[in-house]
Amino acid sequence: MPTISDPIVPQGAPPPRGERVWCSTCGTSEHLVLDSIEPLKPPVNDLVDIAYTCVECDTFYAHTAAFHDVAAILNQQGATASGVLQFGGEYIHCGEPMKISATGFHSIYDPISTEDPSVNLLDVYLATKVLQCSCGFRMEIPS
Ligand SMILES: [Zn+2]
Ligand SMILES: [Zn+2]
Repeated sequence: MPTISDPIVPQGAPPPRGERVWCSTCGTSEHLVLDSIEPLKPPVNDLVDIAYTCVECDTFYAHTAAFHDVAAILNQQGATASGVLQFGGEYIHCGEPMKISATGFHSIYDPISTEDPSVNLLDVYLATKVLQCSCGFRMEIPS
């Protein structure tokens, strides 16, 4: 007769869902510091994998979360453009890192989809970058 059941045994493969971003020990999200944000594999719109620490009680968390919940946490710490997460040098929109599509300095001359790393390397020092999300959202940032 089984006395212990494992609560983590998955029943089939449920679709990923975002869990609440907060510290269950402190009962607040006030003291959270994000350690990492990554797109799911495969990417799921509006969901990201995050890891964070509550600096109040020193508890570490890592799970899938809704994009707007993560944005709310980041916004406590100073937001960039609305709907865009800035973290670790990456800009994240729709739950995935935005790609550099062009630079302000070279965009008149270069094809949008240049993949030449030497060109990008040069551009970083010269001008602004245009970041593009797969949804079509674009923003320009200083390099
Ligand atoms: Zn805590
Ligand atoms: Zn987007």
